[in-house]
Amino acid sequence: MAKIIQLSPHVANLIAAGEVVERPASVVKELLENAVDAGATQVTVEIRDGGMTFLRVTDNGCGMSPEDARTAFLRHATSKLKTAEDLAAIATMGFRGEALAAIASVSRIDLLTKTPGAISGTSLTLEAGNITEESEAGCPDGTTIIVRDLFFNTPARMKFMKSDTVEGSRVTAAVQLQALAHPEVAFRFLRDGKEVLSTPGTGSLEAAVYCVYGRDSGKMVQVDGKWENFSVTGYVSKPTDARPSRALQTFFVNDRPVKSRLLMAALEEAYRNQIMAGKFPACVLHLRVPANVVDVNVHPAKTEVKFLNEKAVFDCIHYCVLGALNKTPDRPQVQFKPAVPAQSVVAPAQKPATAPQKQENFFRTMNAQEFKNFSAAVKDAPKPSPMAAAATAAAVEQTILPPVREQVILPKATPTPISVPTPAPIPQPEEPEQVTIPEIPKEIPWRFVGELYNSYIIVEQGEEAYLIDKHAAHERILFEKLKANQEAISSQVLLTPVTLRLSPEAVAILLDNSSLLEELGFEVQEFGENTLAIRQIPMDLDSAQAIDALETIAADLLNGRKENRSNVRDEVLHTVACKAAIKAGWISSEKELMKLAEQVLSRDDLKHCPHGRPICITLSKKQLEKQFKRS
Ligand code: ADP
Ligand code: MG
Repeated sequence: MAKIIQLSPHVANLIAAGEVVERPASVVKELLENAVDAGATQVTVEIRDGGMTFLRVTDNGCGMSPEDARTAFLRHATSKLKTAEDLAAIATMGFRGEALAAIASVSRIDLLTKTPGAISGTSLTLEAGNITEESEAGCPDGTTIIVRDLFFNTPARMKFMKSDTVEGSRVTAAVQLQALAHPEVAFRFLRDGKEVLSTPGTGSLEAAVYCVYGRDSGKMVQVDGKWENFSVTGYVSKPTDARPSRALQTFFVNDRPVKSRLLMAALEEAYRNQIMAGKFPACVLHLRVPANVVDVNVHPAKTEVKFLNEKAVFDCIHYCVLGALNKTPDRPQVQFKPAVPAQSVVAPAQKPATAPQKQENFFRTMNAQEFKNFSAAVKDAPKPSPMAAAATAAAVEQTILPPVREQVILPKATPTPISVPTPAPIPQPEEPEQVTIPEIPKEIPWRFVGELYNSYIIVEQGEEAYLIDKHAAHERILFEKLKANQEAISSQVLLTPVTLRLSPEAVAILLDNSSLLEELGFEVQEFGENTLAIRQIPMDLDSAQAIDALETIAADLLNGRKENRSNVRDEVLHTVACKAAIKAGWISSEKELMKLAEQVLSRDDLKHCPHGRPICITLSKKQLEKQFKRS
């Protein structure tokens, strides 16, 4: 083995830089946190070229003395922490004393700073972490840091940078996050000379949310609750305004933006049974907890936290959000259906039990504290099994009406099921591998029998009957058709362009992939920081479906399913096919159903829908005879 040497401070700084300085957005995050820690009430951020060549943060905070200004760029130089005990109760955003050293080591920096009492300020110039110039300077109170040519001396890191559009959008997201974290600070953000965000800094979270999300924020539900010694305030989306991804879930713990599975799960628990599968609530939630019950020192970028009492934190978010949602008068009524045992899907539906109904009404009139008392009272009651809960979710999901198309309305009455003494086990849709897909002989004539529940086509052929899931079949047919047509998907021009508000990252990634989108039939244009104008959409979609598809595509692209262009194309084709296909529950004409059945019976490629669910299951004469004890 080679001899051990101690790394030079410069190399050590480069390594530390890798931890905190990943891209322009992470520089902005650190500089904004410093400005807030310095007590600034006004902070301006300016970037050029996505922040790669030029990035300036100006604040009116406490400034630094000439001596402090020099030390600030040394590693582990901080004014926020002195002893190990201080780590147990961190109230500032920064505390490692690493950010400035790390940023300086990979860029060229100009610093101008002045403390309010001083007659003049200090100007420092640094290159790769070394001070190259220092002088006295006349300047306003506060601090201005200019970061130029980020990663000029680390080409390997430079290679990881995305386009200026993407990097710039990440900076936007970073500024937005700080603006939502600190409504008491007025933030201004200029991108290539254009102002893209400005918050009033009045301390009102509502105002900050409005500045970031625009008019959409008016539809959100206010949360303001207390739970033990925790409190939570902020805004959450209504169940009906759910998003296709978690991109718009923002959590702060003691004003620090955090990513936390615990908080995410607690939020989503409050929407259980109110939201469609695969959709997610949006939120801006501030959780305040005593500083000593939270450990922020677990992640270099300080975005993860550990709580001493996870259960209490979970309950706080869960019940306070639930309380807020239940107070909202125009919440759509979710039909509460009894849990259907998973193994008896074909058994007669039970009469709705009264208990859950009562509970629903009860919850709706409760605030967080009442809820807490209630939940303490029922703590010892048996918990519903996950199986039953899943079945309830499935049952509830079915009661949500599909988007109305051509005025087709889902019949409200539940069909009276035929009673079967011993229900035959039917294949579970979520386990396609257990399903035997029938081999359909093509030469034997077949007969269209009818349709069940506006969902399943019944066909008889010789001694077999087939049940065809009309949505799955249509989806697969459309998917194959779109896939076979390797050229661009034909598109329709919208009379008036539709605007779509998304996260800045989602906007950037869609713009970056505009040629791919064009192949798929979409034409989108930039329309402000968070908004896209959609001018053309695929022929088979209406504009609402197209918007939904674009949001899904953005989420897929952001989730990294972008390496392979044909994967993205397939993903989009799934989405297009799924949105354009007739839905279970819709009323279809006999002709339409016959056509679908004909295709399923004559083609070998129509076994599963693009998501792997079976299209067709079989019920043989023999099976029936056995059921009726005839054989
Ligand atoms: P940390 O924030 O973890 O202390 P940094 O490297 O970010 O470490 O900053 C080092 C020190 O420089 C801070 O502790 C603070 O004293 C000082 N400093 C940094 N930015 C500012 C600013 N904008 N205004 C006043 N002081 C600042
Ligand atoms: Mg800092």
